[in-house]
Amino acid sequence: MTESARVGDRDYWHALAGSVALPNQAVIGGQQVDARSGKRFATINPATGALLTDIAEGDAADIDAAVAAARRSFDAGHWRNQSPLARKQVLLRLAELMRAEQQQLAAMESLDMGKLVRDASGNDIPTAINILQWHAEEIDKVYDEVAPLPPGNIGLIRRVPLGVVGAVVPWNFPLNMAVWKCAPALAAGNSVVLKPAEQSPLTALRFAQLALEAGLPEGVLNVVPGFGETAGQALGRHMDVDCLAFTGSTAVGKMFLRYAGDSNLKQVWLECGGKSPVVVFEDCEDLETAADQVASGIFYNQGQVCSAGSRLIVQNSIRTKFLDLLTARLSQYQPGDPLDPRSGLGAMVEARHAANVMRYVEAGRREATLVAGGNAVQVDGSGSFIEPTIFADVHPDAVIAREEIFGPVLAVLGFSDEDKAIALANDSIYGLGASLWTDNLSRAHRVSEQLVAGVVGVNVVDPINPAVPFGGFRQSGSGRDLSRHAVEKYTALKTTWIRFKN
Ligand code: NAP
Ligand code: MG
Repeated sequence: MTESARVGDRDYWHALAGSVALPNQAVIGGQQVDARSGKRFATINPATGALLTDIAEGDAADIDAAVAAARRSFDAGHWRNQSPLARKQVLLRLAELMRAEQQQLAAMESLDMGKLVRDASGNDIPTAINILQWHAEEIDKVYDEVAPLPPGNIGLIRRVPLGVVGAVVPWNFPLNMAVWKCAPALAAGNSVVLKPAEQSPLTALRFAQLALEAGLPEGVLNVVPGFGETAGQALGRHMDVDCLAFTGSTAVGKMFLRYAGDSNLKQVWLECGGKSPVVVFEDCEDLETAADQVASGIFYNQGQVCSAGSRLIVQNSIRTKFLDLLTARLSQYQPGDPLDPRSGLGAMVEARHAANVMRYVEAGRREATLVAGGNAVQVDGSGSFIEPTIFADVHPDAVIAREEIFGPVLAVLGFSDEDKAIALANDSIYGLGASLWTDNLSRAHRVSEQLVAGVVGVNVVDPINPAVPFGGFRQSGSGRDLSRHAVEKYTALKTTWIRFKN
C-alpha cells in the first residue's frame, strides 16, 4: 500500500492506535518518574469512553522537583551557554525525530482528545513540527543592538534568557500548544517546566522523551502531568519560576495574574479565549470560498479552537443566500469515528465539556432560530459527539453571541451597513481573531483598521503561520506566540554600559 493509501485507510489507523506506546510518567531532570505521591489519573478516549492509560499525577511536590531541575540546568549553563548554532542543531534533531513518528503522534493525539486523525496527521502534527523548526532556524540569526552613547562609551543592549519558564497549556491542540511555548523558550536558552492539560498529556510527554534523545541536556525540558488546581497552581505560585506562559480560558488566565502578584512577580503571558467575528459584505464575489472558510472556521476541531470564527456577521442583502451555501457544507462535517479518515467531525474532548456546549445549544434554542444541528449524538453506540449547529436571528445581547462556547456552534447576526458591522464585530470582551470578506480594497483597509483583534484576516478565516504573531487584545490576553516576536516573551533586555578611556 502507498503512504497516501495507508493514511486514508481506517484499518491502518486502528492498528496503529492499538499498537502505539503511550507514555505515562512525568519527565523531570532527564528521568521518567512517577509522581512523588504515587498517585495516577486516568486518561480517557472521548470517542469511546475507554481508558487509555493511567498517568503519573504530579502535584506541588513534583513541580518543586521539576523547577529545581530546571534551575540547576540553567545555572550550570549546559544549554544556555551553548552557541545559538548548537541549540539550533539539537532542536532540528528533535524536529526530525518527531517527523519520523508523525503518524504515531497523530494517532496519540486523536486517541487522547477525540481529534480527527486526518486533521492531526495532515495538519496539526506537521504544523507543530514546522513551528519547532522555524524557531530553531531563527535563533542563530538574531542580532542585538548597540546604543548611540557619547564617545568613550559603548552601550550593549542584549536579549538574554529569563531562566526558568513555566508553561501551562490546554487540550485542544495538545502538541501544538506545547511547542508554541517550548520552542521559542528553549531556542532562547531557557529551561522549561510544562504542565499539559489533564485531558491530553500524551504527546507532550513523548515530546519530552524525544527531546532527550535529540540531545537536549537533562533538566532543560521537564513535563509534569497533573491537574490545574494542584500542579498548575503550584507552577503559577512558584517563587523560583521567572516567567509563566499560559494558554487556556480567560477565567484561569486571571488566576495566573493573581498567582504572580501573590508570589514573586513573575512575568505572565496569557493566550485566552475568544469570540471571533467573521464579517461577510455583499460585495464579496467569491461567496463559495467564504462559505468553505466560515464552515471550517467554526467546525474544525469540533469548534474547540480559541480563534474559531464563532460569530458570523453577514450583510442582510445576502443573508439567505449565504446561509444556504453554509448549510450545503454541513454534510462534510458529520460526526464519525475520529480514527476513520472519512469522518467529518471528531469527538468533543470529554463528556463534561460536551454537556457544557449542549447547555449553550439549549440557550440558543430559546433565544434564536435553529437552522441546523443542535443534537448530541453517539458514534457506534458510544462517545461524546455534537452535530454541527447553526443559529440565525441571534440578538447581539444573546448568551450565544457573547460567551465562548468552544464547540461546533455558529451564531449568525445580520447587518445593514459598514458602521453597524464594525460595531457588532467589536462588541465583545474578547479580541483574538477577526475576518472580513469583501472585494472592495478601500473597505478592506478601512474595516480591518477598526477591528479590535490580534489577527485580522481579509478574505481568509483564522490564518496561522509561524511567520506572523498570534494572540489577542482585551480579555483574549497579552503577549504573542509564533513569529520572531515570540522570543521576546522569554528574554529580558539587558544593558551593558562600557566606559573606556580614549
Ligand atoms: P483551562 O481550563 O483554562 O485550562 C488550561 C490549562 O490551565 C490546563 O492545563 C488546566 O489544567 C490549567 N488550569 C485549570 N485550572 C487551573 C488553576 N486553578 N490553576 C492553574 N492552572 C489551572 O482551559 P481549557 O478548558 O483547557 O481550554 C479551553 C480554553 O482555552 C478556551 O477558553 C480557549 O479559548 C482557550 N484557548 C486559547 C488559545 C489561545 O491561543 N488564545 C488557544 C487554545 C485554547 P487541567 O487540565 O487540569 O484543567
Ligand atoms: Mg484524553
